[in-house]
Amino acid sequence: MTAWRIGTTVIHKVSEAEVAVSLAGVLRTDDTALLKRYPWPGPDFSRPDGTFLLSVHALVVDTGARRILVDTGVGNARPAVPFLPMLDSAWLEELTALGYPPESIDTVVCTHLHFDHIGWNTHLVAGTWVPTFPRARHLVTRVEWDHWADDPDADLHDTMQPLIDAGLVDFVGTDHRVADGVRLEAAPGHTPGQVAVVVESGGERAVITGDLVHHPVQFIEPDVAGLADADAARAAATRRAFVDRYADTGTLVIGTHFPAPTAGLLRRGGDGDVRFVADGPR
Ligand SMILES: [Zn+2]
Repeated sequence: MTAWRIGTTVIHKVSEAEVAVSLAGVLRTDDTALLKRYPWPGPDFSRPDGTFLLSVHALVVDTGARRILVDTGVGNARPAVPFLPMLDSAWLEELTALGYPPESIDTVVCTHLHFDHIGWNTHLVAGTWVPTFPRARHLVTRVEWDHWADDPDADLHDTMQPLIDAGLVDFVGTDHRVADGVRLEAAPGHTPGQVAVVVESGGERAVITGDLVHHPVQFIEPDVAGLADADAARAAATRRAFVDRYADTGTLVIGTHFPAPTAGLLRRGGDGDVRFVADGPR
């Protein structure tokens, strides 16, 4: 179990799946030694066989007053994808065991509408996809929704349409204030309407990345695009701005796909080079 305390807010990581991937399987680079040039906060960021571990997880942001779920993973009984077989995990039971039964979640934030971030929005009951979090407002940015709604290849029928039909979705701006101390921040490029989620309490701050990076090497070399980045140049500009905003500020950076320890700090060395380093005890 992994959790971080930001002032009086607690953020829990709820793992769904982990898969070893090659760098070129996720990022647009053929530099196989790229990961070996830098230190990382954990061994799974660069494994001896050249792979790294891609984690799929959700994050619960518990402010005390609000229970906000950021992204919902792949979900069970979804079609197999190149990296992942059809899943049949105990993710929902683990969320419940952590103290967050689905009806206790008041808000679901979809950082963007890729399949590995919205899967548990719904689950199968007697052959029908129904909302998993029936009491939650589901926040999707208007820009993101409009982009996918225009895409004939987008398949949101099972993951989003049941929420729309139940009136559970709010279309919001990319700078939307979710709750006291929790707000969205535009992170376009991977998808047009993607957001990061900023959590602040008691003078401390964390930011959940969304897929503006899949591996922290992209903070160090921001031009290394993700294979799934819709607009590589815009995604690179978003990464540069993110590093400028958060390096050397004490902000805990929590990756949506980073393996353990999943969170760290951005530091600039005397030479201006950026590093992603482990956070101390928290
Ligand atoms: Zn993703």
